[in-house]
Amino acid sequence: MRPFDYDLFVIGAGSGGVRASRMAAAMGVRVAVAEDRHIGGTCVNVGCVPKKLFVYASQFAEEFEQAAGYGWQLANAEFDWATLRDNKNAEIERLNGIYRNLLANSGCELIEGHATIKGPHTVSVAGRDYSTERILIATGGWPFVPDIPGHEHAISSNEVFYLEQFPKRAIVVGGGYIAVEFAGIFAGLGATTKLVYRGELFLRGFDAEVRRFAAEEIGKKGVSLAFNSDISAIEKLPDGTLKVTFNDGSSELTDCVLYATGRVPKVAGLGLENTRIRQQANGAILVDQQFQTDEPSIYAIGDVIDRMQLTPVALAEGMQLVKRLYGEAGPAVDYQLIPTAVFSQPNIATVGLTEVQARAQYGEVEVYKSNFRAMKQTLAGGQERTFMKLLVDKASDRVVGVHMVGPDAGEIIQGIAIALKAGATKQVFDATIGIHPTAAEEFVTMREPSN
Ligand code: FAD
Ligand code: NDP
Repeated sequence: MRPFDYDLFVIGAGSGGVRASRMAAAMGVRVAVAEDRHIGGTCVNVGCVPKKLFVYASQFAEEFEQAAGYGWQLANAEFDWATLRDNKNAEIERLNGIYRNLLANSGCELIEGHATIKGPHTVSVAGRDYSTERILIATGGWPFVPDIPGHEHAISSNEVFYLEQFPKRAIVVGGGYIAVEFAGIFAGLGATTKLVYRGELFLRGFDAEVRRFAAEEIGKKGVSLAFNSDISAIEKLPDGTLKVTFNDGSSELTDCVLYATGRVPKVAGLGLENTRIRQQANGAILVDQQFQTDEPSIYAIGDVIDRMQLTPVALAEGMQLVKRLYGEAGPAVDYQLIPTAVFSQPNIATVGLTEVQARAQYGEVEVYKSNFRAMKQTLAGGQERTFMKLLVDKASDRVVGVHMVGPDAGEIIQGIAIALKAGATKQVFDATIGIHPTAAEEFVTMREPSN
Protein backbone atom coordinates (compact mmCIF):
# COMPACT_ATOMS: atom_id res chain seq x y z
CA MET A 1 0.00 0.00 0.00
CA ARG A 2 1.24 3.48 -0.87
CA PRO A 3 1.87 5.72 2.14
CA PHE A 4 -0.21 8.70 0.87
CA ASP A 5 -3.78 9.06 -0.39
CA TYR A 6 -2.42 11.00 -3.40
CA ASP A 7 0.87 11.66 -5.13
CA LEU A 8 -0.07 15.26 -5.90
CA PHE A 9 -2.72 17.44 -4.25
CA VAL A 10 -3.41 20.56 -6.31
CA ILE A 11 -5.13 23.48 -4.58
CA GLY A 12 -7.07 25.56 -7.11
CA ALA A 13 -8.72 24.41 -10.36
CA GLY A 14 -7.79 27.54 -12.30
CA SER A 15 -5.58 27.99 -15.36
CA GLY A 16 -2.40 26.60 -13.79
CA GLY A 17 -4.00 24.05 -11.47
CA VAL A 18 -6.18 22.37 -14.11
CA ARG A 19 -3.31 22.14 -16.60
CA ALA A 20 -0.90 20.70 -14.02
CA SER A 21 -3.52 18.26 -12.68
CA ARG A 22 -4.54 16.92 -16.07
CA MET A 23 -1.00 16.57 -17.29
CA ALA A 24 0.17 14.79 -14.14
CA ALA A 25 -2.84 12.44 -14.13
CA ALA A 26 -2.16 11.58 -17.78
CA MET A 27 1.32 10.47 -16.67
CA GLY A 28 -0.18 8.06 -14.15
CA VAL A 29 0.19 10.31 -11.10
CA ARG A 30 -2.62 10.03 -8.52
CA VAL A 31 -3.96 13.58 -8.46
CA ALA A 32 -6.59 15.35 -6.36
CA VAL A 33 -7.58 18.92 -7.14
CA ALA A 34 -9.53 21.12 -4.72
CA GLU A 35 -11.63 24.08 -5.85
CA ASP A 36 -13.76 26.30 -3.63
CA ARG A 37 -15.32 28.64 -6.20
CA HIS A 38 -15.54 28.08 -9.93
CA ILE A 39 -13.97 25.31 -11.97
CA GLY A 40 -11.62 26.89 -14.50
CA GLY A 41 -10.58 29.69 -12.14
CA THR A 42 -10.36 33.40 -12.80
CA CYS A 43 -9.66 33.29 -16.54
CA VAL A 44 -12.70 31.22 -17.46
CA ASN A 45 -15.18 32.68 -14.98
CA VAL A 46 -14.29 36.29 -14.16
CA GLY A 47 -11.31 37.04 -16.37
CA CYS A 48 -10.02 36.54 -19.91
CA VAL A 49 -12.99 34.68 -21.39
CA PRO A 50 -16.04 36.71 -20.25
CA LYS A 51 -13.95 39.87 -20.66
CA LYS A 52 -13.22 39.07 -24.30
CA LEU A 53 -16.89 38.28 -24.91
CA PHE A 54 -17.76 41.70 -23.49
CA VAL A 55 -15.08 43.31 -25.66
CA TYR A 56 -16.67 41.74 -28.74
CA ALA A 57 -20.07 43.02 -27.63
CA SER A 58 -18.75 46.52 -27.09
CA GLN A 59 -17.26 46.77 -30.59
CA PHE A 60 -20.59 46.45 -32.37
CA ALA A 61 -21.74 50.03 -31.73
CA GLU A 62 -18.84 51.44 -33.73
CA GLU A 63 -19.20 48.76 -36.41
CA PHE A 64 -22.89 49.66 -36.84
CA GLU A 65 -22.00 53.34 -37.11
CA GLN A 66 -19.29 52.66 -39.67
CA ALA A 67 -21.41 50.25 -41.70
CA ALA A 68 -23.31 53.18 -43.29
CA GLY A 69 -20.22 54.23 -45.26
CA TYR A 70 -20.14 50.74 -46.74
CA GLY A 71 -23.74 50.99 -47.87
CA TRP A 72 -25.51 49.29 -45.00
CA GLN A 73 -28.59 50.96 -43.61
CA LEU A 74 -29.35 49.67 -40.15
CA ALA A 75 -32.45 50.44 -38.18
CA ASN A 76 -31.78 51.94 -34.74
CA ALA A 77 -29.71 49.27 -33.05
CA GLU A 78 -30.41 48.75 -29.37
CA PHE A 79 -28.30 47.00 -26.78
CA ASP A 80 -29.80 44.69 -24.16
CA TRP A 81 -27.45 44.02 -21.23
CA ALA A 82 -29.46 41.13 -19.80
CA THR A 83 -29.12 39.21 -23.09
CA LEU A 84 -25.35 39.69 -23.20
CA ARG A 85 -24.89 38.83 -19.52
CA ASP A 86 -27.10 35.75 -19.65
CA ASN A 87 -25.66 34.44 -22.93
CA LYS A 88 -22.20 34.94 -21.43
CA ASN A 89 -23.27 33.08 -18.27
CA ALA A 90 -24.55 30.16 -20.36
CA GLU A 91 -21.26 29.99 -22.25
CA ILE A 92 -19.26 30.05 -19.02
CA GLU A 93 -21.42 27.26 -17.59
CA ARG A 94 -20.70 25.26 -20.74
CA LEU A 95 -16.98 25.82 -20.23
CA ASN A 96 -17.26 24.87 -16.54
CA GLY A 97 -18.77 21.55 -17.66
CA ILE A 98 -15.95 21.01 -20.15
CA TYR A 99 -13.31 21.67 -17.50
CA ARG A 100 -15.06 19.33 -15.07
CA ASN A 101 -15.09 16.57 -17.73
CA LEU A 102 -11.47 17.20 -18.69
CA LEU A 103 -10.45 16.69 -15.08
CA ALA A 104 -12.60 13.60 -14.61
CA ASN A 105 -11.57 12.04 -17.93
CA SER A 106 -7.90 12.49 -17.18
CA GLY A 107 -8.37 10.63 -13.91
CA CYS A 108 -8.09 13.50 -11.40
CA GLU A 109 -10.30 13.51 -8.36
CA LEU A 110 -12.08 16.86 -8.01
CA ILE A 111 -12.74 17.78 -4.39
CA GLU A 112 -15.07 20.77 -4.07
CA GLY A 113 -14.44 23.03 -1.09
CA HIS A 114 -11.87 25.28 0.52
CA ALA A 115 -8.51 23.58 1.02
CA THR A 116 -6.28 24.29 3.99
CA ILE A 117 -2.76 22.98 4.33
CA LYS A 118 -2.29 21.33 7.71
CA GLY A 119 1.28 20.21 7.24
CA PRO A 120 3.85 19.33 4.55
CA HIS A 121 1.83 16.28 3.48
CA THR A 122 -1.70 17.01 4.67
CA VAL A 123 -4.52 19.03 3.11
CA SER A 124 -7.92 19.42 4.70
CA VAL A 125 -11.14 20.08 2.75
CA ALA A 126 -14.56 20.30 4.41
CA GLY A 127 -13.30 18.73 7.64
CA ARG A 128 -11.62 15.77 5.96
CA ASP A 129 -7.85 15.32 5.90
CA TYR A 130 -6.07 13.99 2.81
CA SER A 131 -2.47 12.82 2.83
CA THR A 132 -0.30 13.54 -0.17
CA GLU A 133 3.31 13.20 -1.20
CA ARG A 134 3.36 16.66 -2.77
CA ILE A 135 1.15 19.75 -2.69
CA LEU A 136 0.82 22.29 -5.51
CA ILE A 137 -0.57 25.70 -4.60
CA ALA A 138 -2.30 27.27 -7.61
CA THR A 139 -4.76 29.52 -5.79
CA GLY A 140 -4.43 32.60 -8.03
CA GLY A 141 -5.24 36.13 -6.93
CA TRP A 142 -8.04 38.34 -5.74
CA PRO A 143 -8.94 41.97 -6.61
CA PHE A 144 -7.40 44.59 -4.35
CA VAL A 145 -9.63 47.59 -3.52
CA PRO A 146 -8.10 50.41 -1.45
CA ASP A 147 -9.76 51.04 1.88
CA ILE A 148 -11.32 54.46 1.13
CA PRO A 149 -14.54 55.63 2.81
CA GLY A 150 -17.44 54.05 0.92
CA HIS A 151 -15.32 51.39 -0.85
CA GLU A 152 -18.14 48.93 -0.17
CA HIS A 153 -20.21 50.76 -2.80
CA ALA A 154 -17.61 50.02 -5.46
CA ILE A 155 -17.36 46.81 -7.42
CA SER A 156 -14.35 44.83 -8.63
CA SER A 157 -13.82 42.59 -11.64
CA ASN A 158 -15.47 39.79 -9.64
CA GLU A 159 -18.84 41.57 -9.74
CA VAL A 160 -18.71 43.46 -13.03
CA PHE A 161 -19.55 40.34 -15.03
CA TYR A 162 -22.86 39.82 -13.21
CA LEU A 163 -24.36 43.33 -12.88
CA GLU A 164 -28.13 43.32 -12.46
CA GLN A 165 -28.42 46.48 -14.56
CA PHE A 166 -26.04 48.08 -17.00
CA PRO A 167 -25.00 51.53 -15.71
CA LYS A 168 -25.73 54.72 -17.64
CA ARG A 169 -22.63 56.31 -16.09
CA ALA A 170 -19.50 54.43 -14.99
CA ILE A 171 -16.21 55.37 -13.35
CA VAL A 172 -13.29 52.97 -13.64
CA VAL A 173 -10.40 53.43 -11.22
CA GLY A 174 -6.89 52.26 -12.14
CA GLY A 175 -4.54 52.47 -15.08
CA GLY A 176 -3.67 48.84 -15.73
CA TYR A 177 -5.04 46.10 -17.96
CA ILE A 178 -8.45 45.70 -16.35
CA ALA A 179 -9.21 49.42 -16.03
CA VAL A 180 -8.30 50.16 -19.64
CA GLU A 181 -10.17 47.14 -20.97
CA PHE A 182 -13.32 47.87 -18.97
CA ALA A 183 -13.31 51.57 -19.81
CA GLY A 184 -13.61 50.42 -23.44
CA ILE A 185 -16.31 47.90 -22.60
CA PHE A 186 -18.44 50.38 -20.65
CA ALA A 187 -18.07 53.09 -23.29
CA GLY A 188 -18.71 50.73 -26.20
CA LEU A 189 -21.86 49.41 -24.56
CA GLY A 190 -23.16 52.94 -24.14
CA ALA A 191 -22.23 54.14 -20.65
CA THR A 192 -20.80 57.60 -20.12
CA THR A 193 -17.39 56.47 -18.96
CA LYS A 194 -14.56 58.04 -17.04
CA LEU A 195 -11.21 56.41 -16.25
CA VAL A 196 -9.52 57.76 -13.14
CA TYR A 197 -5.81 57.06 -12.74
CA ARG A 198 -3.56 58.35 -9.97
CA GLY A 199 -0.45 58.85 -12.16
CA GLU A 200 0.57 61.05 -15.10
CA LEU A 201 -0.35 58.49 -17.77
CA PHE A 202 -1.92 55.04 -17.59
CA LEU A 203 -0.37 51.65 -18.54
CA ARG A 204 2.83 52.05 -16.57
CA GLY A 205 5.41 49.59 -17.87
CA PHE A 206 4.36 49.87 -21.52
CA ASP A 207 6.37 51.86 -24.08
CA ALA A 208 5.91 55.60 -23.46
CA GLU A 209 4.77 56.36 -27.02
CA VAL A 210 2.34 53.46 -26.92
CA ARG A 211 0.86 54.86 -23.71
CA ARG A 212 0.46 58.34 -25.20
CA PHE A 213 -0.95 57.04 -28.47
CA ALA A 214 -3.38 54.71 -26.65
CA ALA A 215 -4.56 57.61 -24.48
CA GLU A 216 -5.35 59.67 -27.59
CA GLU A 217 -7.21 56.85 -29.31
CA ILE A 218 -9.15 55.78 -26.22
CA GLY A 219 -10.03 59.44 -25.62
CA LYS A 220 -11.37 59.67 -29.20
CA LYS A 221 -13.69 56.74 -28.48
CA GLY A 222 -15.42 58.81 -25.84
CA VAL A 223 -13.76 57.64 -22.62
CA SER A 224 -13.02 60.65 -20.43
CA LEU A 225 -9.49 60.21 -19.07
CA ALA A 226 -8.73 61.75 -15.69
CA PHE A 227 -5.01 61.35 -14.94
CA ASN A 228 -3.34 62.59 -11.74
CA SER A 229 -6.68 61.98 -10.07
CA ASP A 230 -8.00 59.64 -7.41
CA ILE A 231 -11.20 59.01 -5.50
CA SER A 232 -11.20 59.98 -1.83
CA ALA A 233 -14.73 58.83 -0.91
CA ILE A 234 -17.86 57.22 -2.31
CA GLU A 235 -21.31 57.90 -0.86
CA LYS A 236 -24.51 56.10 -1.78
CA LEU A 237 -27.47 58.46 -2.11
CA PRO A 238 -31.00 57.33 -1.20
CA ASP A 239 -31.92 56.69 -4.86
CA GLY A 240 -28.91 54.41 -5.27
CA THR A 241 -26.83 56.94 -7.21
CA LEU A 242 -23.19 57.09 -6.14
CA LYS A 243 -21.62 60.41 -5.21
CA VAL A 244 -17.91 60.21 -5.85
CA THR A 245 -15.55 62.74 -4.29
CA PHE A 246 -12.13 63.21 -5.87
CA ASN A 247 -8.90 64.17 -4.12
CA ASP A 248 -9.09 67.71 -5.54
CA GLY A 249 -12.38 68.17 -3.65
CA SER A 250 -14.62 67.99 -6.73
CA SER A 251 -17.44 65.46 -6.89
CA GLU A 252 -19.51 63.67 -9.51
CA LEU A 253 -22.58 61.44 -9.63
CA THR A 254 -22.35 58.01 -11.20
CA ASP A 255 -24.12 54.64 -11.27
CA CYS A 256 -21.12 52.35 -10.96
CA VAL A 257 -17.56 52.58 -9.67
CA LEU A 258 -15.28 49.75 -10.80
CA TYR A 259 -11.99 49.44 -8.95
CA ALA A 260 -9.29 47.81 -11.07
CA THR A 261 -6.37 48.58 -8.83
CA GLY A 262 -4.42 45.36 -9.01
CA ARG A 263 -4.76 41.88 -7.57
CA VAL A 264 -3.26 40.28 -4.50
CA PRO A 265 -2.22 36.62 -4.12
CA LYS A 266 -5.05 34.49 -2.72
CA VAL A 267 -3.61 32.92 0.40
CA ALA A 268 -6.27 33.64 3.06
CA GLY A 269 -7.19 30.52 5.01
CA LEU A 270 -4.66 28.45 3.07
CA GLY A 271 -2.81 27.36 6.21
CA LEU A 272 0.60 28.72 5.21
CA GLU A 273 1.31 29.17 8.93
CA ASN A 274 1.44 25.37 9.16
CA THR A 275 4.39 25.29 6.77
CA ARG A 276 7.84 26.81 6.34
CA ILE A 277 6.69 28.71 3.24
CA ARG A 278 7.93 32.29 2.97
CA GLN A 279 6.01 35.08 1.27
CA GLN A 280 6.84 38.41 -0.37
CA ALA A 281 5.57 41.64 1.17
CA ASN A 282 2.38 41.45 -0.93
CA GLY A 283 1.69 37.87 0.18
CA ALA A 284 3.02 36.17 -2.95
CA ILE A 285 4.50 32.76 -2.24
CA LEU A 286 8.27 32.60 -2.64
CA VAL A 287 9.48 29.81 -4.89
CA ASP A 288 12.80 28.95 -6.49
CA GLN A 289 13.41 28.47 -10.22
CA GLN A 290 11.77 25.04 -9.92
CA PHE A 291 8.58 26.44 -8.30
CA GLN A 292 9.52 24.80 -5.01
CA THR A 293 8.72 26.65 -1.78
CA ASP A 294 10.81 26.54 1.39
CA GLU A 295 8.69 23.54 2.39
CA PRO A 296 10.27 20.93 0.08
CA SER A 297 7.05 18.95 -0.56
CA ILE A 298 5.09 22.08 -1.52
CA TYR A 299 5.22 23.90 -4.88
CA ALA A 300 3.42 26.98 -6.21
CA ILE A 301 2.65 28.37 -9.67
CA GLY A 302 0.55 31.07 -11.35
CA ASP A 303 -0.76 34.35 -10.00
CA VAL A 304 -0.08 33.29 -6.40
CA ILE A 305 3.68 33.56 -7.07
CA ASP A 306 3.11 36.91 -8.84
CA ARG A 307 5.68 36.64 -11.62
CA MET A 308 3.44 37.53 -14.56
CA GLN A 309 -0.28 37.41 -13.99
CA LEU A 310 -1.20 35.89 -17.34
CA THR A 311 -2.97 32.64 -18.13
CA PRO A 312 -0.39 31.32 -20.61
CA VAL A 313 2.32 31.93 -17.99
CA ALA A 314 0.39 29.92 -15.34
CA LEU A 315 -0.03 27.12 -17.92
CA ALA A 316 3.67 27.14 -18.82
CA GLU A 317 4.69 27.05 -15.15
CA GLY A 318 2.31 24.16 -14.42
CA MET A 319 3.51 22.13 -17.40
CA GLN A 320 7.17 22.73 -16.68
CA LEU A 321 6.75 21.67 -13.06
CA VAL A 322 4.85 18.49 -13.86
CA LYS A 323 7.37 17.51 -16.54
CA ARG A 324 10.22 17.97 -14.12
CA LEU A 325 8.56 16.09 -11.25
CA TYR A 326 7.09 13.20 -13.21
CA GLY A 327 8.58 13.10 -16.69
CA GLU A 328 11.59 14.32 -18.56
CA ALA A 329 12.59 17.76 -17.33
CA GLY A 330 12.30 20.30 -20.12
CA PRO A 331 13.93 23.73 -20.15
CA ALA A 332 13.00 26.20 -17.39
CA VAL A 333 10.13 28.60 -18.10
CA ASP A 334 11.56 31.46 -20.14
CA TYR A 335 10.11 34.77 -18.97
CA GLN A 336 11.82 36.70 -21.78
CA LEU A 337 9.82 37.90 -24.78
CA ILE A 338 6.40 37.05 -23.38
CA PRO A 339 3.89 38.79 -25.67
CA THR A 340 0.89 40.46 -24.10
CA ALA A 341 -2.19 42.37 -25.20
CA VAL A 342 -4.57 44.82 -23.61
CA PHE A 343 -7.96 44.24 -25.20
CA SER A 344 -8.78 47.91 -25.20
CA GLN A 345 -10.31 49.71 -28.14
CA PRO A 346 -8.14 49.74 -30.12
CA ASN A 347 -6.04 46.79 -28.92
CA ILE A 348 -2.56 47.34 -27.54
CA ALA A 349 -0.06 44.52 -27.93
CA THR A 350 3.60 44.24 -27.26
CA VAL A 351 6.54 41.84 -27.18
CA GLY A 352 10.03 42.54 -25.94
CA LEU A 353 11.52 45.77 -24.67
CA THR A 354 10.20 49.30 -24.49
CA GLU A 355 12.36 51.98 -26.10
CA VAL A 356 13.73 53.08 -22.73
CA GLN A 357 14.58 49.49 -21.77
CA ALA A 358 16.14 48.80 -25.18
CA ARG A 359 18.37 51.87 -24.96
CA ALA A 360 19.40 50.96 -21.41
CA GLN A 361 20.23 47.41 -22.44
CA TYR A 362 21.78 47.90 -25.90
CA GLY A 363 22.87 51.52 -26.11
CA GLU A 364 22.43 52.22 -29.81
CA VAL A 365 18.92 51.37 -30.86
CA GLU A 366 17.17 52.05 -34.16
CA VAL A 367 13.52 52.94 -33.90
CA TYR A 368 11.11 52.29 -36.78
CA LYS A 369 7.60 53.68 -36.54
CA SER A 370 4.42 53.83 -38.51
CA ASN A 371 1.30 55.83 -37.71
CA PHE A 372 -1.58 55.57 -40.16
CA ARG A 373 -5.32 55.50 -40.66
CA ALA A 374 -6.18 51.92 -41.59
CA MET A 375 -7.96 51.23 -44.88
CA LYS A 376 -11.20 50.20 -43.20
CA GLN A 377 -11.56 53.69 -41.76
CA THR A 378 -11.68 55.35 -45.19
CA LEU A 379 -15.23 54.48 -46.28
CA ALA A 380 -16.31 54.15 -42.65
CA GLY A 381 -15.35 57.74 -41.97
CA GLY A 382 -13.61 56.74 -38.75
CA GLN A 383 -10.73 58.72 -37.31
CA GLU A 384 -9.03 55.81 -35.54
CA ARG A 385 -5.30 55.59 -36.19
CA THR A 386 -2.93 52.64 -35.89
CA PHE A 387 0.57 52.82 -34.42
CA MET A 388 3.43 50.38 -34.87
CA LYS A 389 6.95 50.50 -33.54
CA LEU A 390 10.00 48.28 -33.99
CA LEU A 391 13.13 48.57 -31.84
CA VAL A 392 16.34 47.20 -33.28
CA ASP A 393 19.67 46.69 -31.56
CA LYS A 394 22.01 48.44 -34.00
CA ALA A 395 25.03 46.26 -33.25
CA SER A 396 23.38 42.89 -33.89
CA ASP A 397 20.44 44.06 -36.08
CA ARG A 398 18.18 41.98 -33.80
CA VAL A 399 14.63 43.20 -33.29
CA VAL A 400 14.28 43.56 -29.51
CA GLY A 401 10.84 45.13 -29.12
CA VAL A 402 7.66 45.32 -31.18
CA HIS A 403 4.64 47.39 -30.21
CA MET A 404 1.28 48.00 -31.80
CA VAL A 405 -1.88 49.94 -31.02
CA GLY A 406 -4.61 49.08 -33.48
CA PRO A 407 -7.25 46.55 -34.47
CA ASP A 408 -6.27 42.92 -33.84
CA ALA A 409 -2.91 43.94 -32.36
CA GLY A 410 -3.08 40.88 -30.09
CA GLU A 411 -3.48 38.54 -33.07
CA ILE A 412 -0.67 40.21 -35.01
CA ILE A 413 1.87 40.45 -32.19
CA GLN A 414 1.40 36.76 -31.34
CA GLY A 415 2.94 35.88 -34.71
CA ILE A 416 5.68 38.44 -34.41
CA ALA A 417 6.58 37.07 -30.98
CA ILE A 418 7.58 33.80 -32.66
CA ALA A 419 9.96 35.71 -34.94
CA LEU A 420 11.53 37.50 -31.96
CA LYS A 421 11.83 34.25 -30.04
CA ALA A 422 13.67 32.84 -33.06
CA GLY A 423 16.07 35.80 -32.89
CA ALA A 424 14.86 37.59 -36.03
CA THR A 425 16.94 40.51 -37.25
CA LYS A 426 15.59 43.59 -38.98
CA GLN A 427 17.00 42.13 -42.17
CA VAL A 428 14.75 39.09 -41.73
CA PHE A 429 11.75 41.40 -41.24
CA ASP A 430 12.75 43.28 -44.42
CA ALA A 431 13.21 40.07 -46.40
CA THR A 432 9.71 38.92 -45.45
CA ILE A 433 7.11 39.58 -48.12
CA GLY A 434 3.99 41.30 -46.83
CA ILE A 435 0.39 40.16 -47.06
CA HIS A 436 -1.44 42.85 -48.95
CA PRO A 437 -3.58 44.67 -48.09
CA THR A 438 -3.25 44.28 -44.34
CA ALA A 439 -2.18 46.57 -41.54
CA ALA A 440 0.31 43.93 -40.40
CA GLU A 441 2.34 44.24 -43.63
CA GLU A 442 3.61 47.56 -42.27
CA PHE A 443 5.83 45.54 -39.93
CA VAL A 444 7.84 44.26 -42.90
CA THR A 445 7.94 47.50 -44.89
CA MET A 446 9.38 49.99 -42.40
CA ARG A 447 12.56 51.07 -44.20
CA GLU A 448 13.85 54.23 -42.55
CA PRO A 449 14.56 54.52 -38.84
CA SER A 450 12.98 57.58 -37.25
CA ASN A 451 16.11 58.39 -35.22
P1 FAD B 1 -6.73 31.25 -11.05
O1 FAD B 1 -7.13 31.04 -12.46
O2 FAD B 1 -7.20 32.45 -10.36
O3 FAD B 1 -7.22 29.95 -10.27
C1 FAD B 1 -7.08 29.82 -8.89
C2 FAD B 1 -8.21 28.94 -8.39
O4 FAD B 1 -7.93 28.54 -7.05
C3 FAD B 1 -9.53 29.69 -8.33
O5 FAD B 1 -10.52 28.96 -9.04
C4 FAD B 1 -9.85 29.77 -6.84
O6 FAD B 1 -11.23 29.73 -6.57
C5 FAD B 1 -9.13 28.55 -6.31
N1 FAD B 1 -8.77 28.64 -4.88
C6 FAD B 1 -8.12 29.66 -4.27
N2 FAD B 1 -7.89 29.35 -2.97
C7 FAD B 1 -8.39 28.09 -2.79
C8 FAD B 1 -8.46 27.23 -1.67
N3 FAD B 1 -7.88 27.55 -0.49
N4 FAD B 1 -9.08 26.04 -1.81
C9 FAD B 1 -9.65 25.67 -2.99
N5 FAD B 1 -9.59 26.46 -4.10
C10 FAD B 1 -8.97 27.65 -3.99
N6 FAD B 1 -4.79 36.77 -18.48
C11 FAD B 1 -4.50 36.63 -19.80
O7 FAD B 1 -3.52 35.95 -20.13
N7 FAD B 1 -5.27 37.23 -20.76
C12 FAD B 1 -6.37 37.96 -20.45
O8 FAD B 1 -7.06 38.48 -21.34
C13 FAD B 1 -6.70 38.12 -19.07
N8 FAD B 1 -7.79 38.85 -18.72
C14 FAD B 1 -8.10 38.96 -17.40
C15 FAD B 1 -9.22 39.72 -17.07
C16 FAD B 1 -9.56 39.87 -15.74
C17 FAD B 1 -10.78 40.69 -15.39
C18 FAD B 1 -8.78 39.25 -14.73
C19 FAD B 1 -9.17 39.39 -13.29
C20 FAD B 1 -7.66 38.50 -15.05
C21 FAD B 1 -7.30 38.36 -16.40
N9 FAD B 1 -6.18 37.63 -16.78
C22 FAD B 1 -5.87 37.50 -18.11
C23 FAD B 1 -5.29 37.00 -15.78
C24 FAD B 1 -5.59 35.50 -15.65
O9 FAD B 1 -6.96 35.32 -15.37
C25 FAD B 1 -4.75 34.91 -14.54
O10 FAD B 1 -3.38 35.21 -14.77
C26 FAD B 1 -4.90 33.40 -14.45
O11 FAD B 1 -6.25 33.05 -14.22
C27 FAD B 1 -4.02 32.84 -13.32
O12 FAD B 1 -4.20 31.47 -13.21
P2 FAD B 1 -3.97 30.74 -11.80
O13 FAD B 1 -4.10 29.28 -12.07
O14 FAD B 1 -2.74 31.22 -11.16
O15 FAD B 1 -5.16 31.24 -10.87
P1 NDP C 1 -2.52 46.14 -12.91
O1 NDP C 1 -1.43 45.79 -11.98
O2 NDP C 1 -2.35 45.92 -14.36
O3 NDP C 1 -2.92 47.67 -12.70
C1 NDP C 1 -3.27 48.16 -11.46
C2 NDP C 1 -3.52 49.64 -11.60
O4 NDP C 1 -4.09 50.13 -10.39
C3 NDP C 1 -2.25 50.44 -11.84
O5 NDP C 1 -2.54 51.45 -12.78
C4 NDP C 1 -1.93 51.02 -10.47
O6 NDP C 1 -1.30 52.26 -10.54
C5 NDP C 1 -3.33 51.24 -9.92
N1 NDP C 1 -3.37 51.21 -8.46
C6 NDP C 1 -2.82 50.31 -7.63
N2 NDP C 1 -3.09 50.60 -6.34
C7 NDP C 1 -3.84 51.73 -6.36
C8 NDP C 1 -4.42 52.52 -5.34
N3 NDP C 1 -4.26 52.21 -4.06
N4 NDP C 1 -5.12 53.60 -5.72
C9 NDP C 1 -5.25 53.94 -7.03
N5 NDP C 1 -4.72 53.21 -8.04
C10 NDP C 1 -4.02 52.12 -7.70
O7 NDP C 1 -3.78 45.36 -12.33
P2 NDP C 1 -5.22 45.01 -12.91
O8 NDP C 1 -6.09 44.99 -11.72
O9 NDP C 1 -5.57 45.88 -14.05
O10 NDP C 1 -5.02 43.53 -13.46
C11 NDP C 1 -4.34 42.54 -12.68
C12 NDP C 1 -3.48 41.69 -13.56
O11 NDP C 1 -4.28 40.78 -14.30
C13 NDP C 1 -2.70 42.46 -14.63
O12 NDP C 1 -1.51 42.99 -14.15
C14 NDP C 1 -2.47 41.42 -15.69
O13 NDP C 1 -1.30 40.70 -15.40
C15 NDP C 1 -3.69 40.52 -15.56
N6 NDP C 1 -4.63 40.86 -16.63
C16 NDP C 1 -4.25 40.59 -17.91
C17 NDP C 1 -5.07 40.94 -18.95
C18 NDP C 1 -4.63 40.65 -20.34
O14 NDP C 1 -3.71 39.88 -20.55
N7 NDP C 1 -5.27 41.24 -21.34
C19 NDP C 1 -6.35 41.59 -18.74
C20 NDP C 1 -6.65 41.82 -17.35
C21 NDP C 1 -5.81 41.47 -16.35
P3 NDP C 1 0.30 52.41 -10.71
O15 NDP C 1 0.60 52.04 -12.12
O16 NDP C 1 0.51 53.84 -10.42
O17 NDP C 1 0.92 51.49 -9.71
